[in-house]
This record gives sequence, C-alpha cells and structure tokens, in this order.
Amino acid sequence: MAKTGPQKYPDASLSYWWQTAYPGNAMESNVGVLHTTEGRTLPDYRGGRDAPNFTALPDIPNRKIKWYQHFDFDTSSRALMNLSGGVETNTANAVQIELVGTCDERNAVTWDGKRAGVDYIFWPAAPDWLLAELAKFVRWAHDNHGIRLASAVTWKAYNKGQVGGSYGANGVRLSGAQWQAYYGWLGHQHVPENDHGDPGNINFTRVLALAGGGAAQPTPEENGVALTQERSDSWNAMIWGLKNTTEATLARLTALETLVKLLAADQDLDESAIATAVENAVAKALRENTVAVDVTVQNSSTAKG
Ligand SMILES: [Zn+2]
Repeated sequence: MAKTGPQKYPDASLSYWWQTAYPGNAMESNVGVLHTTEGRTLPDYRGGRDAPNFTALPDIPNRKIKWYQHFDFDTSSRALMNLSGGVETNTANAVQIELVGTCDERNAVTWDGKRAGVDYIFWPAAPDWLLAELAKFVRWAHDNHGIRLASAVTWKAYNKGQVGGSYGANGVRLSGAQWQAYYGWLGHQHVPENDHGDPGNINFTRVLALAGGGAAQPTPEENGVALTQERSDSWNAMIWGLKNTTEATLARLTALETLVKLLAADQDLDESAIATAVENAVAKALRENTVAVDVTVQNSSTAKG
C-alpha cells in the first residue's frame, strides 16, 4: 500500500523507534485504537515486540503530552492479539496509541502511594487539558490521514474482575465483520480476537468535541428539551462512524423516529429519559445492523431516477 500522507507526528520523539527491528506491514490507517499502559512510565514493550505506533506520556506539570513514535503512522504495530484465522487486527489499517496511565478504578485516586492527576493519570477522569492534547492528535490524524472524527462504540468502564466490566466478552466488542467495516476511533476493548478491557470509559465524546472545535457546553434548546452539545456530538459521532451512508441515513431516521414518538407520547418531557431511549435505539440498530423504520412516506406517482 501507498502509505499516503506524513508518516511522523510533528515533535514526536523517535528515540524508541521499533520499525527497524519489526518492519510491519504498509497500511492506510483508517481506524485509531486507544490503549492504556496500566503503568506510570514509558514502557519498553518487551523490546518493541508489543509496541503501538505511538505512546502518549502525560507531562502533568507542563500540561502537555510527550509523544513517542515507534512506527510510521501507516505501518502496522503490535499491541493487539491476532488469532490465526478470523480477521486481521494489527495490520487492519489500525493506528494504535498507548496512553500512559491507568483505566483501573482501583487506581482512581492513589496507586502505590502516588496521586492520580498529580503523579499519574487515571484516564476516565483525565483533565480537560489532557483530553485537548489527545484531541490535537485526533485532529491531525483526521486532517492528514482522513481518520474520521467519530466513534460509534460504547466505551465501557474497566471494573476489573467484576460482572459488566470491559474485559473479555463485554457486549461492546465488535464482530469480525463490524471491525472490518469500522472507521474512526475505538479502544482495545472493542477489537475482536482480543480480551483486554482498556482504555475503560475515557471521555472520548469530549476528545471528539475538542478535536472538532466544538464547545461541548450544555446548550438547552428553546423548546425546553435540553439536548446538550455533548449528547448531540455523541449521537453524531455514532452515526458518522458508519462507513455505509445507507446505514447512517437509517440510523439518523431511527433516532428521529424514536425522538418524535417519545415527544408525541408524553408532553411531560424528561429529557434524560428521551436521550437514553434514543441512544439505546441507535446503539441497538448499529449493533444488530438492522433498522426498523416504520415511517410511511407519501410518494408522488413518478419515481425520481
Ligand atoms: Zn491494550
């Protein structure tokens, strides 16, 4: 493949470059996969054997990410499991980023005597400056490589060892076919043939809003339904993550239809209940790849070509 576009992220350190030892495959990355390292320092990745394309090391005092690049943007890296048979993972046009820190709730406040937000990052509660730094990368990947500013998955909390956690068969992991059809951003917890649950429930909606230049502030609508900017961005992200425009159109119709039914059924509006119902309907439609839209359209007698 061609490896279109700039292959190095500006200012990323190349001091831990693993592509010479592990040349990988040429790709055209169209999916970004996020991991958390579950550590507090730059990993060695077993001499590069398990390395991602990039490592994002938070520089907390200076409110920046120190970026390390290990492979070209469009060269396959090595942080995913790939079983024999089935689908490809590392080589499936997937650029991978390891975020240094943890998504494990047991480390949400302290970890081996260190303090979250001061000495290390608990990513589900990452500060806004850090999400903005990640958003810069997401924006660059969009502008230079066409990786969509979208995420059509649910980011589940890690909850290690607990029922409902993000490890293993977590209900949000994609099938092989869904993975092959996916464009945009997701996490290790969504990749088939893998069981890891990182990066937990990071606020990727906020990252997308920052990458898109959105304010992500609540903006109550005039009619009293508080469709927040964040929620609107989330729905848009889910829908725009779809490869297939027919699917996207049907998903949009489902969202609208559900909203309209709810509004019509009850004048005493509970905006969070409406939002949840719409989100569930869209997620179900995306998951099952089947959209039931029972809207009767009055067609004119002459079909348009
Ligand atoms: Zn991972």
